[in-house]
Amino acid sequence: MEKSKGEELQEKLFNSKKLGWETINLDEKNNIMSFSDDYIAFLNECKTERECARYAERNLKAHGFENIENKNKLMPGDKVYYINRGKSVYAAVIGEAMLEEGLNLVGAHIDSPRIDLKPNPLYEDGGFALFKTHYYGGIKKYQWTAIPLVIKGVIAKTNGEVININIGEDKNDPIFTITDLLPHLATKQNKQSLSEGVKGEALNLLVGSIPYDDEKVKEKVKLNILNILNEKYEITEADFNSAELELVPAFEARTLGFDKSMIAAYGQDDRSCAYTTLRALIELNEPCRTSIALLADKEEIGSVGNTGMYSQNFENFIAMLLDKTGQNGYNVLEKTLCNSKMLSADVTSGADPTYSEVDDKINAAYLGKGVALCKYTGSHGKSGASDANAEFVAKVRRIAEDNNLLYQMTDMGKVDEGGGGTIAYILANKGIDVIDCGVPVLSMHAPYEVSSKFDIYNAYQLYKAFYKN
Ligand code: MN
Ligand code: MN
Repeated sequence: MEKSKGEELQEKLFNSKKLGWETINLDEKNNIMSFSDDYIAFLNECKTERECARYAERNLKAHGFENIENKNKLMPGDKVYYINRGKSVYAAVIGEAMLEEGLNLVGAHIDSPRIDLKPNPLYEDGGFALFKTHYYGGIKKYQWTAIPLVIKGVIAKTNGEVININIGEDKNDPIFTITDLLPHLATKQNKQSLSEGVKGEALNLLVGSIPYDDEKVKEKVKLNILNILNEKYEITEADFNSAELELVPAFEARTLGFDKSMIAAYGQDDRSCAYTTLRALIELNEPCRTSIALLADKEEIGSVGNTGMYSQNFENFIAMLLDKTGQNGYNVLEKTLCNSKMLSADVTSGADPTYSEVDDKINAAYLGKGVALCKYTGSHGKSGASDANAEFVAKVRRIAEDNNLLYQMTDMGKVDEGGGGTIAYILANKGIDVIDCGVPVLSMHAPYEVSSKFDIYNAYQLYKAFYKN
């Protein structure tokens, strides 16, 4: 059938957003599936920022990256990394061009919403030993009850020893859970709002129920737990004061759907972008501009702290690169930053047909339509948004189009429906051209988030192409 004039015109003029699966051949589909298997393995190994940092260091080293502190001089082609306090990672491939001509950065975050233990967590009540908790990041609290949880993190002792804790992933380990009220007696709870139904102080973790065998002792169950921990880790109750212990879902990352097109897993915000960013940099050789991967901590609580994106440690890393490539001088750090460009690699809300009332369908991000570019985030009148410059957006569009990669230009939610932020504005404030560019997910911040395998692979391809420009 011959196309009508109108059909031809429509093809030429309309911005039709294709579904990725309809644009690829069998070889490409196989690449997506095998890349997804690697990503799933990564998710199962990395459920905390510390685990992600360790994974990154191991893989960077295996691909020729060296600790920058062990290098005196850097040359084009050299590959270096810096691990900030075991929780955030900066890695660079030195390019041919002078650094002050600008860097190519892709930045993701490796912390995810979770539940932390309070500094004095352990208590006994009603014949049980429990841990008091304090949630981290934006969660819907009711989602974290009645699911299997594991405990991960560190206990730092006053003698300098740091004990690594990881209980619940091994099939022989116990798991833990936060209980919820049975529906039979939840008449009052059911009438409360979702955010009030389970309160922060109700997120208590169940950890034991056998009493220590001694008539004279009070809090026998608590004592028994401390005795078990003392025998295993040589800690006392006070050592919890200097611990960072995180509760994360015990669920494994899995392929989702009869057609195996999606992935369900904890922590895809933002490990989907962290994995693809890291892999894109690791596979990069001899770029023109110096290319950098940032894996930040603390994004979920405002990018604060010395491992968050606001930390001076980032600029210190760039200053080290300048110093070790012999590019010193007045204002060179500031010039370098102001000439740099960046993809802020963070997930966005995928359009969910069950909750379509929150989206502007014309500007929503759809699973399977490729990486979502967000010119601005923020809330209400773009409050808190860095709002990428049109010229820079055009540049990123060109990179995608030159490499035959799908992308969708998106805006999260209807105007005034809510909002959110990423690390983009922090880097933009330093003078860098930044746009948000990440994977759309369903059930964001829930213990089990959903992404499309097509988008994961597409993000990896675009990050890689961006580094090369
Ligand atoms: Mn995020
Ligand atoms: Mn988030």
